[in-house]
Amino acid sequence: MTETRDVALPDTSELYYPDPALVEQSNVMAYARSKGFNSYDELYQWTISHREEFWADMASQLEWFKPWDKVLDDSNKPFYQWFVGGKTNIVYNAIDRHLKTWRKNKLALIWEGEDGSQRTYSYYQLNYEVSRIANVLKSMGVKKGDIVTIYMPRIPELMFSMLACAKIGAAHSVVYGGFSEAALADRLADAKSKVLITADGGYMRGKVVELKKIVNEALSRTPTVQTCLVFRHTNHGAPMEQGRDFWMHDLLGLPIANGHCPTEEMDAEDMLFILYTSGTTGKPKGVVHTHGGYMVGTYTTLKFVFDIKDEDRYWCAADPGWITGHSFIVYAPLINGATSFMYEGAPNYPYPDRWWSMVAKHGITILYTAPTAIRGLMRFGDLWPSRHDLSTLRLLGSVGEPINPEAWKWFYEKIGHGRCPIMDTWWQTETGHFMITPTPAVPLKPGSATRPFLGIEADVVHEDGSPCAPDEDGLLVIKNPWPGMMRTILNDPQRYVEGYWQKVPPYYAAGDSARKDKDGYIWVIGRLDDVIKVSGYRLGTAEVESALVSHPAVAEAAAIGLPHEVKGNAIHAFVILRAGYEPSHDLEEKLRAHVGHELGPIARPDSITFVTSLPKTRSGKIMRRVLRARALGLPEGDVSTLEE
Ligand code: ATP
Ligand code: MG
Repeated sequence: MTETRDVALPDTSELYYPDPALVEQSNVMAYARSKGFNSYDELYQWTISHREEFWADMASQLEWFKPWDKVLDDSNKPFYQWFVGGKTNIVYNAIDRHLKTWRKNKLALIWEGEDGSQRTYSYYQLNYEVSRIANVLKSMGVKKGDIVTIYMPRIPELMFSMLACAKIGAAHSVVYGGFSEAALADRLADAKSKVLITADGGYMRGKVVELKKIVNEALSRTPTVQTCLVFRHTNHGAPMEQGRDFWMHDLLGLPIANGHCPTEEMDAEDMLFILYTSGTTGKPKGVVHTHGGYMVGTYTTLKFVFDIKDEDRYWCAADPGWITGHSFIVYAPLINGATSFMYEGAPNYPYPDRWWSMVAKHGITILYTAPTAIRGLMRFGDLWPSRHDLSTLRLLGSVGEPINPEAWKWFYEKIGHGRCPIMDTWWQTETGHFMITPTPAVPLKPGSATRPFLGIEADVVHEDGSPCAPDEDGLLVIKNPWPGMMRTILNDPQRYVEGYWQKVPPYYAAGDSARKDKDGYIWVIGRLDDVIKVSGYRLGTAEVESALVSHPAVAEAAAIGLPHEVKGNAIHAFVILRAGYEPSHDLEEKLRAHVGHELGPIARPDSITFVTSLPKTRSGKIMRRVLRARALGLPEGDVSTLEE
């Protein structure tokens, strides 16, 4: 696990200091001062020594029908419980609370369709739409504790439907709208949903994706579903089945679907939703989250990391169908009373400047996206962003994979014009909210998610739990419970215990490998499954890929290890070239030499294949296990989340 390395480590001395005015005016420093601290570090130390007090402080900024009796109950580890005895509903804090203030007239959501159409909703209207859908669900017999599956394109009704479920105490299980019929059927069966909410179709790159057709096929294999509620979006004549399928616009026209619906009182520990992990490393896990702790954790992390202010126009460009969307498109922005932007379609449709034109058009101040999107847009060159006024931006963000320093710098220079710090947030479906992340008060290092968030103790350790030396590779663990942590895996509590808590007891094992540098900055190397061992040396796929991406010809790269008689493993890389470069044997040699030069000869790939796409999860992560299986001629395993 921890051999010393003779490959070059990234230069970890390079620091980017945030603008002092930004630090001074940040939410996190305002909180620090209110606690009598002058620095972020002092505040962090206090949150570690007073963890429960810190989270209770945050929880008390929100509204509860009944306050909690105990902040943390750890009597049945690892089944931790938070805000025990408290009664609330996340929707009460996301919507109802704002209706009592001027924010009822504030925009909650600005939505732009791929065709350029636009819709906006104030908090007041949001409540109206959500309440009507909630009333329809109730009339269809949906009750507290049921799990409703949602399979929708990226339209406002996706968000409304999630909130409608939570409002009446039903849990939602959102299945990303790009998934296949088999993936949908598996998840419907696992959740035993009786009700499915969907739409006739969605748009992607100008074409209609016929969701309802996919739904019909999935439903032919999932007998539990009795009712299918269908929003009309593409209006292309979706096939409906009498008795089972209902048009939402018909139901929403009935008197029962009025704009008043009480928000159900929930126990802090009642289930809010289940969500399946991305499936990057194997069969997706149905992660369970609850109302109370998740509400407090997502609220706090967004407020302090993205520094949400009333004047902001915040855009998280993920899909609501994965955890980033659940936490940081739907729940946390609303709890913070923010104005969010949502875009339906592809980033490069009709041209590669679509995103930049929308930043300018809507005056976006915060843009939170993923390395895959950054690399994808970087590939088209600098001219596209340079044509647009991006001066409203003040903060940028990244999530999903380690961000290659080259992509970080492009994002920082060409999009943020050197003014906007990048919040590289490390977290997981399982963690619910940010765990390792800068705030505007933390100096940045490109490619590092920096340091644990307030109240979080993250570390890099050996298999026996002892801490690694600075720059030594090890296992990434979280040492203490946090409010938004998953509570279990649906139908498989044993997998929860064994998969996360028995690997490096008593810590939470994230399943990622990482390094911590001498400044305490954490560098996530990649999934443990993806680490390549060459001649006894451990290499992270991320470092080989970043070395490739740092060459001007390379837009994107994936590295895998394949068995090798002498070295144990040999590195094979797959490379997508930037616009203007052509594959050649000569270029392959140059790239191999480049990696050797950057990281040391041991890391030089044995071969490089030029490709035009890489297998990725629907959330945009490279599925190296699929590349490996294909190269070895083996079955590809669970590919329910593969996008191609
Ligand atoms: P599965 O668990 O099914 O294999 P997954 O791990 O991709 O899927 P997610 O919960 O969507 O499912 O992703 C969490 C993982 O994403 C982390 O464990 C980490 O490997 C990676 N990740 C997320 N954010 C970052 C980041 N900022 N830097 C580095 N890695 C990140
Ligand atoms: Mg995972």
